[in-house]
Amino acid sequence: MPAHPFPYEIIYSSRKTLAIQITADGKVRVRAPKRIPNSVIERFLTEKEGWVLKHLQKKKADAENGYFRDRAQLSEQERNHYREIARDIFTKKTAYYAQIMSVTYGRITIREQKTRWGSCSIDGNLNFNWRLIFAPEEVLNYIVIHELAHRREMNHSPAFYKIVGEIMPDYKKQQKWLRENGQKLWN
Ligand SMILES: [Zn+2]
Repeated sequence: MPAHPFPYEIIYSSRKTLAIQITADGKVRVRAPKRIPNSVIERFLTEKEGWVLKHLQKKKADAENGYFRDRAQLSEQERNHYREIARDIFTKKTAYYAQIMSVTYGRITIREQKTRWGSCSIDGNLNFNWRLIFAPEEVLNYIVIHELAHRREMNHSPAFYKIVGEIMPDYKKQQKWLRENGQKLWN
């Protein structure tokens, strides 16, 4: 019995032909008709060896490149990278909208908090969640406008939303996006 340079499993069924698959987690699976001689499967595997090895290698490389990894499993280095991008984006957007809204602000801090997209302290320091950089641009703008509006109203009263609405009339659309899709920014 020839040895193959990879482990594999054989699944017999009522199918008529032989087929070979690489599963999502990188296993080799042979689908075979019932009662097919072992020698036929062996020959088939030998013929397909090059193809299988090529695909196994690609799967491994993809996994190493983070292709199958989601953002919840980022390395510290990748996190810092995104944080820096977010810092740049939020710094520019805050400066832009603060001028339009005629408000001042203090420090800008970029955080990662599952339950918060942004916040504004009494002395005007702003926090933004870097995961927002994966949201549509208008959603980011809304969060910036929202936090800056707290420089006028430290609450979520109608007066507060009037300020937000003056700058962004369709802000409810962005709120809806966050409600429906916010969780996806963690995936
Ligand atoms: Zn608020």
